[in-house]
Formats: sequence, C-alpha cells, structure tokens
Amino acid sequence: MKIAVLPGDGIGPEIVAQAVRVLEVLTSDGMKFELETALLGGCAVDATGNPFPEETRKLAIEADALLLGAVGGSQYDELPREKRPERGLLSIRKDLNLFANLRPVMLYSELEDASTLKPEVISGLDILIIRELTGDIYFGEPRGIKLHDDQRLGFNTMIYSEAEIYRIAHVAFRVARKRNKKLCSVDKMNVLECSQLWRDVVIEVSQEYRDVELSHMLVDNAAMQLVLEPKQFDVIVTGNMFGDILSDEASMLTGSIGMLPSASLDDKNKGLYEPIHGSAPDIAGKNIANPLATILSVAMMLRYTFNHEEAAVRIENSVKKVLAQNYRTRDICEPGMKEIGTAEMGDAVLKNL
Ligand code: NAD
Repeated sequence: MKIAVLPGDGIGPEIVAQAVRVLEVLTSDGMKFELETALLGGCAVDATGNPFPEETRKLAIEADALLLGAVGGSQYDELPREKRPERGLLSIRKDLNLFANLRPVMLYSELEDASTLKPEVISGLDILIIRELTGDIYFGEPRGIKLHDDQRLGFNTMIYSEAEIYRIAHVAFRVARKRNKKLCSVDKMNVLECSQLWRDVVIEVSQEYRDVELSHMLVDNAAMQLVLEPKQFDVIVTGNMFGDILSDEASMLTGSIGMLPSASLDDKNKGLYEPIHGSAPDIAGKNIANPLATILSVAMMLRYTFNHEEAAVRIENSVKKVLAQNYRTRDICEPGMKEIGTAEMGDAVLKNL
C-alpha cells in the first residue's frame, strides 16, 4: 500500500506527523505501508517555484493513496494565480481525476456543546456529503472578464456532461447502499438546464439501485434544511459549486473544523485524504492544532482505498475514546476538560489504538 505523504503548509506538517504515527502503529501490527513524502502548495513554490512540481506529480500517480495536510498562506496571495498554493491542490485533483469528494459530518456526543445549534437538533448527527469535484462552473469554458458595450462583463459556464453525472451518481448510490440506503440529490432544476440534466441522469441511475430511497431537493431549500433539521439526511450528492457551499455549511453543524476528514476518489478508489480545514497559519508551529481530522482521514483511507474496514473503525474508536477521556486540543476545549497539544493528542490516540 503505497502512500504519498504531502504535509503542505502552515499546520500541515504538524498534523500529518501525528497521522503518520498512526500508520506506523498499524505497520507494527502487520499492515504494510510504503510512505514517501513530497512537496505540494506553498512549500513547493518556495523550493521549486511550482505549487505542484513534476516530482510530486510522478509520486502522486504511482501512489495508491495520498495523505495531505493543507496548503496556503497569505505570503502567496500576490503571486499569479497559476503559482499559488491552491493551484497545486486544484491540479492534483484534476490530474488524478479525483472527481468524488466525500465529507462525513459526524457529531461526537462529547462535543455537542461546540455547535451553535441546539443539542436536540444535532445530537447523533451522522451525514455524508458527496460533492462532484472536477466539473461544473469551476472548470467550465468559456470563462473570463471582458469589455462589452464599454463595461466589464464577468462570465463563467456551468456545464456537466451526462458521463460526469453518471459516475458521481454511481458513487453516491454505492455509498448510500453501505449506509442507511437514503440518498438526497441536490440541484437547482427549477432554473438551470444543467441541473435538469443532473436530475434526469440521477433518476436514470437510480433504476440500478432500487433498494436505495432517492429524493431530490433544490439547493436553496437544502441550505435551509441543513440547519433546520439536519438529521433528515443520510447521504447527499450534489455538483461542485453547490457541494462546496453546502459541505462547509454542514461542517459547521459540528462546530469543530479540526474534527472533520475528507476523501477525494477516482473511479478505482484511489484517493486523496485530507482534513477539511486549511493551513491555519495563525496557529502554525505552536503545537496547538487539532490533528484529529487528519487522523480520521487515515481511517477514511483505510476504508475507501484499502478496504480495511476493521482498521478504519479501530482508528475511529480510538478517537472516540480520547474524547471520552476528556482530552481536548484548544479548539474544542471546554471548562473541566484536559487541554493538550498536537503531539500529545497524537500520543493519546496511539495509546488507545
Ligand atoms: P483555516 O481552515 O486554515 O482556518 C480557519 C480557522 O480555524 C483559524 O482560526 C484556524 O486557526 C482554525 N483551525 C483550522 N484548522 C484547525 C485545526 N486543525 N486545529 C485548530 N484550529 C484550526 O482557514 P483560513 O484561515 O481561511 O485559511 C488559511 C489558509 O489555508 C489560506 O491560505 C487558505 O487558502 C488555505 N486553505 C487551504 C485548504 C486546503 O488545503 N484544502 C482549505 C481551506 C483553506
């Protein structure tokens, strides 16, 4: 099992170091991982001038899975767009065809008070958002800003081919089948032709998964329902832009950005695994970042790429135990809890593992 390790920028190296320790424990228990580290993002710009260097690209293609910290920092904001750290991330997703982004949004009972929503609305919350990641208005052409009738005109193209919708719909139905067999497809078909096609194709695919209950929701309503009654959902599937917005909204239901992992998969379950948060430059190098989202990303890697459900559950249970033992990093700490640092949180997880 070859894993490309991409620590990235800011808190990336600190949190990835803890996740690598988890892989080392599993290795000593008999699983075989080959880890190789490479540069992506701002650190790659500093070293090579390119946020996604050729060497990293080669490793990314060879590896079965990739573990990423986060990329970015304000010192790169003035660079041309193609030299910015975020371009490294967009390129790696596009080059590896990582079209299916899976974001579980799960609330640990110990952290119910971290949410801004009432406990009865969110307690026991466990939903999964699947966002299409390589199409839609983010990549559609034509795009640009041009002069028209003496004024500037900004334009982008929202576009999906049926093949793109088929493949993300299949992923969504397969994942829904492994959970509670409930899938909600989110679109804006009352106004957008692109969404009409999305809905038509999802309905076609549903014929192959008659055991999964399919529903549809307009994106504006979905945004509202996610805060009104989030537990009505199990699996949500949607396009790139709607998914970008809804998954951030949903992640905040849990109140703790440092707890949520994600996976971006291709059609053979090769995946890039990363926490949903950014590089948090404000706390980098201080040993206070929460490494749990990155550690939980390793659990997702074992589940989705390596098919080791047992090891995935083992990691997730270790995280649950650590929280039950009242250990907290600063971002999730409340009065009466034991505040510990990044490395000590790694120690605590390892001990339970
Ligand atoms: P951010 O997620 O980095 O930070 C938002 C807030 O959450 C900050 O206060 C930060 O300290 C806190 N935070 C984030 N992760 C944490 C953790 N693990 N433990 C404790 N606290 C944590 O978002 P931002 O500040 O908007 O962006 C910072 C940089 O990260 C930018 O350059 C941005 O482009 C980049 N970014 C990268 C990714 C990615 O690599 N996938 C995603 C989002 C943002």
